[in-house]
Amino acid sequence: MAGYHFIFNLNDHTYESREQGLSDPEGYLLSVHRYTPKFTALALSLNNSYDEIVMADNGYYARIRDLTKSYTKESAALLKRVSAFEKKLGRKARYKELPAELMRDYTALAKRIRSSVYEIEKTHEFSFEDILREQSLIKPDRIVCPEDILLATLVGLNIEPEYLDLPRSFYRYRNERSGRFFQKAQTTYPGTYPGEKQILAVASAVDYNSAYDAGRELAKAGAQYLAMGTGAYMVDNHFTDHYRINRKTTILERSVPRRYLRTVLTAKGLVDGYYAQAGTYPALIHFLGLGTPIMMVMVAWIGRHAGEITFDATSPIKDAVEGTLYVTEPSYLKFKTDKLASYYMQNPEQRWACGCTYCKTYGKMHVMDYDRAAQWFAKHPDRGADLEREDLRAGELAEALPLFSMPRGGQQARDINDWRMGHNHMMLMHIMDDLRSTDNDETLKALITEKLETYAKDALPHYAYAIKEAWRLSQAF
Ligand SMILES: [Zn+2]
Repeated sequence: MAGYHFIFNLNDHTYESREQGLSDPEGYLLSVHRYTPKFTALALSLNNSYDEIVMADNGYYARIRDLTKSYTKESAALLKRVSAFEKKLGRKARYKELPAELMRDYTALAKRIRSSVYEIEKTHEFSFEDILREQSLIKPDRIVCPEDILLATLVGLNIEPEYLDLPRSFYRYRNERSGRFFQKAQTTYPGTYPGEKQILAVASAVDYNSAYDAGRELAKAGAQYLAMGTGAYMVDNHFTDHYRINRKTTILERSVPRRYLRTVLTAKGLVDGYYAQAGTYPALIHFLGLGTPIMMVMVAWIGRHAGEITFDATSPIKDAVEGTLYVTEPSYLKFKTDKLASYYMQNPEQRWACGCTYCKTYGKMHVMDYDRAAQWFAKHPDRGADLEREDLRAGELAEALPLFSMPRGGQQARDINDWRMGHNHMMLMHIMDDLRSTDNDETLKALITEKLETYAKDALPHYAYAIKEAWRLSQAF
């Protein structure tokens, strides 16, 4: 069974929380474009020998974001044409079904983006060697190798393989490059490598097939430690009704959010391809930018034979700022604070009973008065399920349920944000504990199945179906 760990992004919040003794993470990830004196000093004071992993990220996320931005207009125009075609068709466009002209335009665009990738690599202020040198400055235990950013950019622009007139080798080549990058990093990384340092070769994939080829290529290059970026997958709000494995397209009963299918299929492809080539499993797979609990547990299952599965994400922070809280019982769910406030004011005998260090500490500073919330509801019976954000900005209800309030600014807002960010991180650590507490395939599968079934019970039908399908695919073939 793999070891499962959530690695914190090192930023002001996670730094402060450590200073205050509120969190005890298993590791930190620091990207080269986020170095500050205090962050680098902290990173240098930690290392794996103290069970605290220090990961140096390559900072390429910023390059992907900029490149995506510069092609957004063009790709959006093509996507409009896809939508018009799909409208006529009455369903999603499948593999090479688009009109020849549209496919030609898509292919030309993908090739132009590829040229831009090479331009960026040549002209960027940080060369491959500079990046490695920067990464080495924090003496990391794990290094996310500089990567090929083309496929992450295509995903970010919704340029799907079925829209392109390009062979499978177009995608495979990106991972041949990643394999070469990895080998180059092994020989040029400054400092004491090889040793305890682990260089993570970065797989780039858009679907099962490209992930499978990535696994093979990285195994061929001799990589044992792998990383895969999932950030671009998880922000994709489009739906799909099919997936492709080898040459076979499978049609689903209904459309599902593409992010669920893609995350699961690429994880599965990577593990399968690696095993096919190496005859063994990777020592480590790190999922960059994956912090959605239900997806984390599915890929945890897929990677269970690897030595270690790790995750990092800024989503627990972004969600906290938007007023979303994670819970682990009865399932790995996310709740908006207005829904929570609405529930507790209508059920004042219930208690927010989280026992995490954050809830214990902030719960004492911001005491909840459930009866007062119920009294407010008695005076405003029309609110019920439709609590307005204004109700939680200030006033009696916000004062009665401070942990669920949404203050506009000032110390109170900072406190509540800190609490939420901290609590969300604690919940992700709790989920890792749950995964680690299972001791064989059977108990791991039972845990995940139970959590997913409970999750699906209250989900909207298309989400429930998507989760069921994603979980089925995680266990299939
Ligand atoms: Zn808590």
